[in-house]
Amino acid sequence: MYTLQSKWRYLIMFLGVQLVVMALLSREGYQKRVSYFFRIFRKTDSTSGHTIGGRNHTDVYANLSLLGPALNKEDMPYCPKQSPLIGGPIHVTFPSGLTLAEVERKNPLVVRGGRYRPPNCEARHRTAIIIPHRNREHHLKVLLYYLHPFLQRQQLNYGIYVIHQAGNYTFNRAKLMNVGFREAMRDEDWDCLFFHDVDLIPEDDRNTYVCDTHPKHAAIAMDKFGYKSVFFTLSSCISFDFMPAFHTCTQIMVSLGGMLISRPSLKVGRYKMIKHRHDKGNEVNPKRFNMLAKTRHTWKEDGMNTVEYEIVSRDYQLLYTNITVNIGTEAGQRSTKKKPAS
Ligand code: UDP
Ligand code: MN
Repeated sequence: MYTLQSKWRYLIMFLGVQLVVMALLSREGYQKRVSYFFRIFRKTDSTSGHTIGGRNHTDVYANLSLLGPALNKEDMPYCPKQSPLIGGPIHVTFPSGLTLAEVERKNPLVVRGGRYRPPNCEARHRTAIIIPHRNREHHLKVLLYYLHPFLQRQQLNYGIYVIHQAGNYTFNRAKLMNVGFREAMRDEDWDCLFFHDVDLIPEDDRNTYVCDTHPKHAAIAMDKFGYKSVFFTLSSCISFDFMPAFHTCTQIMVSLGGMLISRPSLKVGRYKMIKHRHDKGNEVNPKRFNMLAKTRHTWKEDGMNTVEYEIVSRDYQLLYTNITVNIGTEAGQRSTKKKPAS
């Protein structure tokens, strides 16, 4: 009798301990599974465009109608420190039949070159978005569809630059970022630049695209990796104190420079990645790792001042400024020096 009782007691204690441990361990995992479920749920509905399974996720274009009437520049107060239009998580789906005309129609206040300023208050921040691009027109359309209202909700004075690499040589994102930096600064004295992959869609408008005192890394969580991974080379914001140290690889620059990085929380820094195959003729740069390794020694000399390129065209579309640039080949850059267009 006694042994039976103590056996039961042990069993119950054992089960209790197990339950507690399981509860502790699975708290996060459970949340992940639930959000994963919702994501699948939402995906299945993505063609119809209804928001289901995402109760708290706003349409990125909601609120924008709350913008008051345009004011004269003289009467304009500064925008509030925190935009009242910001709502939190954004519902992101990838509409298939999207056209640029549709994006234009939805963004009536965006003007030539993809520029915008709040109509009824003076923006506190001026941000340029730099998008390295080649042959990803569909991604670009989707990004523009989400990015314009996203930035408008943040009451920014902003401009979008698409830096398009001419020719078929290996795509060089870092170099395009350098070109984008220079060319955007030619236009205007931006407070802040964000380098943005064409296939990453921000999913929370509290992820503000402004520069704090530290370089900011906005794309820290991506759905592809269960929103867990920390990424450093995706979207980065460089504040100008660091300009002399700006380098083709922001990640290396940041780690070598020992700078502090301010990051939005994992929740707010969420991005949805548009799935894609690897680009033809751009599979993997075989020298990629060599280049990174070399960077450790050369980053100080090899910054903004050594960028050589040739602007093929600069045209002001309604939704963005397109800069097509010839950056040559790696070998070509060593032998034939090209002057930057002035
Ligand atoms: N990219 C592009 N065309 C290319 C390759 C890259 O426009 O042929 C740009 C685009 O902005 C993309 C970024 O470079 O988001 C990063 O490249 P990719 O998406 O291939 O890298 P991933 O992070 O998916 O491995
Ligand atoms: Mn990609």
